[in-house]
Parts: sequence; C-alpha cells; structure tokens
Amino acid sequence: MQSIIDIQHLFYRYEKDTVLEDINMSIPDGSFLAIVGPNGSGKSTLLKLILGLLKPQKGEITIFGQEISKFKDWQKIGYVSQKANSFNTGFPATVFEVVASGLTKKLGLFTFFKKEHSLKVFEALEAVGMREFSNRNIGELSGGQQQRVFIARALVSEPKLLILDEPTVGVDAENVNSFYQMLGDLNKNRAITLLLVTHDIGTISDKVTHVACLNKHLHFHGETKEFEELRGEGMSEFYGHDVHLLAHHHEHGGARK
Ligand code: ADP
Repeated sequence: MQSIIDIQHLFYRYEKDTVLEDINMSIPDGSFLAIVGPNGSGKSTLLKLILGLLKPQKGEITIFGQEISKFKDWQKIGYVSQKANSFNTGFPATVFEVVASGLTKKLGLFTFFKKEHSLKVFEALEAVGMREFSNRNIGELSGGQQQRVFIARALVSEPKLLILDEPTVGVDAENVNSFYQMLGDLNKNRAITLLLVTHDIGTISDKVTHVACLNKHLHFHGETKEFEELRGEGMSEFYGHDVHLLAHHHEHGGARK
C-alpha cells in the first residue's frame, strides 16, 4: 500500500522542552489510524506538524509523496479540530449552512451557490447520517450530532485524508459505537484515509485498522489486532503508566465519557 503521510526522524520542541522525539511512521492509503496517548503526550503537536502549522526542528514529513514545504494541495486534507466540540450553541446557523460553509474555501466567498452545491451538502450530510437535520439550528443538536455536522463540513471539499482531533469527546457513551461505525463507513465506502487522535484508549473500535501509541516517542505502531493482543498482555512497557491506567479502567467498563 502506498503511504499518504510519511514521517522520518521527526523532532519537535517548544522553547526548551522536547515534546516529540525521533518519530518515524507512515500512514498507508486507505487506513484508519488512531493515535492514542495521555494528555500532554504530543498528539496535537504532531497534528499541527502534519497540517504544516508548525515546522519541525529536525526530520522530514512527506504528504502525498511531496515534501511538506512544497505541498500545495491542502484541499485533499480535511481537518476537524477539537474546538468543534465547544461550538457556541447560540450561533444562529442551520445545519445546512454550517456544512455549506465548508464549500467557500473551494468556491470563494461570493460565488453563486448552485443546485449542484446543494446536492454536495446533502450528500455529505447523508454520509454522516444527518440529512434529515439539515434545517435544524446547529445549537439545538447534541454534541455527537454537532460533531457529525462538522465532519460533513469537512467532507464537502472531498478530502482524501480526514484528520480528527478527539472526535468522541462530545459523544455520549451509548453513541460511541455508531459514531465509529459512521467513520468506518467513510473509510471503507468512500476510500477516505482517516487519522484521529484520542487520549481515550477505552474507545478504540474495531473499525480502526492501525494504532499508534504516542508519549513523546512512538511506543507502538501497528495493526489494531496486534495492539489488542499487547493490550491483553498489559501495555505498560509500550505505553507508560498513564495509559496502563486507562486500559485498566477499560477492563472494568469505566473508561468512556
Ligand atoms: P496532547 O495533544 O497529547 O495533549 P500537546 O501536543 O498539546 O499534547 O502537548 C505536548 C506538550 O507540549 C505538553 O507538555 C504541552 O504542555 C506542551 N505544549 C503544547 N503547546 C505548547 C506551546 N504552544 N508552547 C509551549 N509548550 C507547549
């Protein structure tokens, strides 16, 4: 499988604290990768490096076969930030309008909105199971439903890679499985490579094909079934104390939010 992102010997520090050390990983085209790690382990920093928002002090990042500083085709990458979880519920926009706003990047602000564009919006809403909510005010929806709408907004520009920062934070425990099911469908049926980060090891679903455990270093990177086997054996040597605790919680069914 061709890799969509390739990272070689990546180091990053803020002022004097090194937060990422010698990270090497490649993300295969068509995979669904979860990067897991406790708070402060460098997950957001790694995403910012991949999105070109930060520059590494050392190492290389290649995106779609191109060195990141030369890469221009950012439309191929959709990003749903953590801030999407704390959307101001008083904001007067419909679900349709929120998703349509994802097209302005592509169309320019004052381009006439045509019927084909509406179809794209409905199609994206369909893909996340939210079509019948198109006329609802975004503020009236649950956290999980809002998250689906923000994913639809990222989908309208037809990304090949979708990056999600802690997407299950606002999702109720009983809806986490169907949320992952929806992501699994995007991954399989639409051939979108997915990269998500989460601190919550308890919710890693079987829709995820690959797992990377980050805690300054990359402690593990491989297929989900291999990860599950290691988890069964106790993860501390791969993952560090914090995550061992989360795994422990999970065994007693209490890790979900
Ligand atoms: P995570 O997303 O896994 O919680 P982060 O990438 O946000 O981790 O943070 C990794 C480390 O870098 C933490 O120790 C954090 O305090 C530090 N850090 C994050 N952003 C900055 C910044 N802008 N300046 C200085 N230190 C930062």
